[in-house]
Amino acid sequence: MRVAVVGGGCVGLTVAGDLADRGAAVALYERDELGSGATGRAAGICYDAFAGSVDAAVAARALDRYREWDLLTPCPYVWAAREDGDATAIRQQVREMQAHGRDVTELSPEALAERYPHLDTSTVTAAGVANAAGTLDPDAVVTELAARARSAGVTILTETPATLADPKTVETSDGRERFDAVVVAGGSAAKPLVADVGVSLALKTYRAQALVTTPVDAGLPSFYDATEEFYWRPKGERIIVGNGAHAADPDDWTADADPEFVESALAKFDEATTLSPAVARSWAGLCTATPDRDPLVGHVADGLYVAAGWQGHGLMRAPALGEFLAERVLDADPTLSVPLGPRVDPTRFDGDESFDPLGDPTADW
Ligand SMILES: Cc1cc2nc3c(=O)[nH]c(=O)nc-3n(C[C@H](O)[C@H](O)[C@H](O)COP(=O)(O)OP(=O)(O)OC[C@H]3O[C@@H](n4cnc5c(N)ncnc54)[C@H](O)[C@@H]3O)c2cc1C
Repeated sequence: MRVAVVGGGCVGLTVAGDLADRGAAVALYERDELGSGATGRAAGICYDAFAGSVDAAVAARALDRYREWDLLTPCPYVWAAREDGDATAIRQQVREMQAHGRDVTELSPEALAERYPHLDTSTVTAAGVANAAGTLDPDAVVTELAARARSAGVTILTETPATLADPKTVETSDGRERFDAVVVAGGSAAKPLVADVGVSLALKTYRAQALVTTPVDAGLPSFYDATEEFYWRPKGERIIVGNGAHAADPDDWTADADPEFVESALAKFDEATTLSPAVARSWAGLCTATPDRDPLVGHVADGLYVAAGWQGHGLMRAPALGEFLAERVLDADPTLSVPLGPRVDPTRFDGDESFDPLGDPTADW
């Protein structure tokens, strides 16, 4: 089977490698450099703290593969609440995650403070910790996935923008090429790419921001503040702090972080810890959203497949959902034993839905 993959981020590279591993002849088209989209801008948090059985199974598979590829740096992921309502939700989530076999525990504010003395837990009402979580270096992920894909026989074409002439025909400046199947993993460009062949995706774009601090060397976990809605993760002696998300036009956005985001993210970090680092670098990137916050992964037209709509969690899910899509394209038995297909089926929406791309973050996977 000859398959084209459009998009050289973590998702396209995973799909391409998994297709080739299973015997397909694969060409991957990347308009710029590999990882130049959202993938290269990700903070790199990776965890299995999901309360639903399907989500937990997807996360477990993704973590296993990242471990197998030696890309995951172990780092517990703590999520904490500062209000009573959020605290109840965290306790409930921990129980559900445990029921799905996840290595997750609830920590009292006192236990949290003892474990991480640089955290200010004075206003924390409840916290959970995912002990099997870790962090990823996006550049290392791209390098490894590309090496894996190439050694499986994938032809990777960078600096090669592609469009679709029809659902199975890819057009570049070198001409047209017909395939048995085409997978569009074009991130925020997925919607316009498939619109050219009459497919309407329920996909919106938003801009997320992050910064990396000067060194603090304080032994912190990765952390999500469910009340303040921001996160951080250690990166060596530094900390990546993120959020600052807002709806954005994919054709009109800036890759530099806003000064207001930098100021408020540093202030929130100062308040949540005993530390006051400065900012070393900051940036922004585009994420994709769907009406129900689940991704669009599957078949959309004759021979045409998509993988998009990660709601800011694409890097951590790529190894599991990229593999799932490769198996779908080849009609092979799925590695994941959970009923994922209907949940992520792109055709569950008409494509003309009106929705808030940022919705309710607590309703995430
Ligand atoms: C600030 C920030 C922090 C984040 N933090 C995390 C995190 O901690 N954990 C996590 O799991 N996720 C995180 N994410 C989300 C994550 O980065 C994305 O979900 C993930 O990278 C999506 O991967 P992708 O391969 O689908 O898309 P992309 O990485 O965007 O790749 C799409 C590729 O397609 C290419 N392309 C587009 N159009 C064409 C065309 N016409 N022809 C050829 N190529 C084309 C683009 O150049 C791009 O390289 C974060 C995102 C941002 C912005």
